[in-house]
Amino acid sequence: MHEASIVLSLLDTLTNRCREEGYSSIESVRIKIGMASGIMPEAIVFAFEAAKQDTIARDAELFIEMVPVGGSCSDCRNDFEVSEAYVVNCPLCGSHSFKIQKGYELDIVEMEVNE
Ligand SMILES: [Zn+2]
Repeated sequence: MHEASIVLSLLDTLTNRCREEGYSSIESVRIKIGMASGIMPEAIVFAFEAAKQDTIARDAELFIEMVPVGGSCSDCRNDFEVSEAYVVNCPLCGSHSFKIQKGYELDIVEMEVNE
């Protein structure tokens, strides 16, 4: 995975948001990473620490929330969640006919700023 480029676009988004709102610095950022996204949280933290130095987020602390993979089964009609990165079959009935609904996201949940 390309965690460095993910972090750069994350910092871009944060910087633009601060510029628009007139904030002077960011104290903390909370993001969500889906377990099926293939993104390694450790690598994100590492890349963030390195890339934030010359940005408005230089003092920001990064918090990561992992989102389990979830889907709904077309056979037993139940929603399910698993903590593995891949879903092979419905954990409830074993069907291979299901839709993944979450677990691929990378979202900024909130950021704390100084005005
Ligand atoms: Zn099922």
